[in-house]
Amino acid sequence: MKRIAIFPGSFDPITKGHENILLRALPLFDEVIIAIGINSSKQSYFTLEQRENWIKQVFANEPKVRVETYTGLTINFCKKVGANYILRGLRTSTDFEFENLIAQNNKVMAPEIESVFMIPVSELSAINSTVVRDIIRNGGDPTPFIPASIKIEK
Ligand code: ADP
Repeated sequence: MKRIAIFPGSFDPITKGHENILLRALPLFDEVIIAIGINSSKQSYFTLEQRENWIKQVFANEPKVRVETYTGLTINFCKKVGANYILRGLRTSTDFEFENLIAQNNKVMAPEIESVFMIPVSELSAINSTVVRDIIRNGGDPTPFIPASIKIEK
């Protein structure tokens, strides 16, 4: 059976933290689908098209990576695309508390799907999209926090 993982998130915008987790996870899977979740109650800062384009640019040379968007339950999206793994990053104890709950509930609903967690490398663990958005919103330079292959205009 092909090992297909999804890496779900908002990617608003993609950061070096996301890029690093994905690249380190890639050897474990045959295919990784970056799944941008569309949540009607959560307004994004960047448009879906923009977020998708940046991800495509970052992984343009990785044939095992593709980008999709989804609404609804993550496990239902997994079933739709034939994915058996959900990949998430664990930066802090807050991430752990949240992910632990979601993963256990997902396991009840879809026992065939495994949640897989990766710990960030220490130099990237403080990076998150919220901080990057704040920097951009306030006219700062986000370059140290976003993948080298993309440019986000201030
Ligand atoms: P969400 O709103 O679902 O948390 P994000 O786009 O913020 O979406 O994050 C998607 C995934 O990437 C999450 O599992 C998150 O923990 C992980 N992630 C985000 N930033 C980092 C980072 N700096 N290092 C490791 N993982 C990260």
